[in-house]
Amino acid sequence: MAYLNSNYLKLKSGYLFPEIARRVSAFASQYPEKAKRLIRCGIGDVTEPLPEAARNAMLRAVQDMGQHSTFRGYGPEQGYEFLRSKIAEFDYRSRGISIADDEIFVSDGSKCDCANILDIFSHTNCIAVMDPVYPVYVDTNVMAGHTGPADASGAYYGLLYLPCLPENHFVPSTPNHPVDLIYLCFPNNPTGAVASLAQLQKWVDFALANDSIILYDAAYEAFIRDPALPHSIYEIPGATKCAIEFRSFSKNAGFTGVRCAYTVVPKTLTARDESGNPHPLHPLWARRFSTKFNGVSYITQRAAEALYSDEGRQQIAALIDHYMGNADILRKALLASGLLVYGGENAPYLWVKCPTGLTSWQTFDLLLNEAQIVVTPGSGFGAAGEGFFRVSAFNSRQNAIEAASRLANFRW
Ligand SMILES: *Cc1c(COP(=O)(O)O)cnc(C)c1O
Repeated sequence: MAYLNSNYLKLKSGYLFPEIARRVSAFASQYPEKAKRLIRCGIGDVTEPLPEAARNAMLRAVQDMGQHSTFRGYGPEQGYEFLRSKIAEFDYRSRGISIADDEIFVSDGSKCDCANILDIFSHTNCIAVMDPVYPVYVDTNVMAGHTGPADASGAYYGLLYLPCLPENHFVPSTPNHPVDLIYLCFPNNPTGAVASLAQLQKWVDFALANDSIILYDAAYEAFIRDPALPHSIYEIPGATKCAIEFRSFSKNAGFTGVRCAYTVVPKTLTARDESGNPHPLHPLWARRFSTKFNGVSYITQRAAEALYSDEGRQQIAALIDHYMGNADILRKALLASGLLVYGGENAPYLWVKCPTGLTSWQTFDLLLNEAQIVVTPGSGFGAAGEGFFRVSAFNSRQNAIEAASRLANFRW
């Protein structure tokens, strides 16, 4: 008899996106004519094609693979030096942050990294997540057996949910008791909120005082426009002693289908064994990488390297300008329709308060039926997301303009 991992049975069925798809297809079969006008503002995927610098680098890398002299088989599990050095130099050292090349671990995605990092931590940790939350942080802890079952609101026993609301500008304050692992994501998905240096300093001070580790997801750092805002947790003094940072090429360079990301694990980072003795985490993560992963493809790493060339950086800037232009158009339209709008200024997501008296799903249905616009109901991201909906700026300009004109004239 084989026994399964019964933690998987605690998972609530992937409810949000299947339920959106169900409602959209029910609408489409009832109103096939209206369905032709549908605009999806719910997606968290990019829409614009890959930067030319990345495509050209991939073509050259394919040629390398076709000749004995330049062919590559297995590469270093943690990533090729040519890419790790570019990342450490451009994303950190040139910004005054001291990160060594070998503190960068190149991977096939931040989703995987956020999930896999749990391998090197004990099952006894107390874990805090933001609410609303990127569901990967929660579900991977459920799978690993770090929680009890879910309650009626969908919250799992054993996790500490940090409510993110207009009152705290969607940046949670530190709890008044210790926690061991803390997931923070800025700029935030889904709220579009950003954290200031002072707000992050409080979290770093808390982590240092309690011997906690911050798991900092900076997948959207490229969307930050305000020069006063930190792009990396390591801009905060002390953070290399208490934080792991996740970054991805998915959202800045449109690599969602190419797959490349990286994790930063500083060598100064430690966690304790059962007897309370501190050990560095870097060798554990390196060991996990070389045992369970065989590296990102050479072709993909060459594409990522090219993003740091002059043209690559210009092409990324143009992509960000495109999406942030959409965000601006959509934000103005939502404000014009009389709604309260958060985010969208340093992030590709707008977090919008539902009209008084409407739940997230009621607002979703109204926009689908009356304007043929698909948004994401906030309650799908956690209890504190009820009463909000998310509008994504990942779209063509044409779709953003059309959605904005329908939203600006919407009678709530
Ligand atoms: C899109 C996204 C990522 C990136 O995931 P990849 O696996 O690198 O594509 C990470 N974190 C959040 C919150 C995201 O929305």
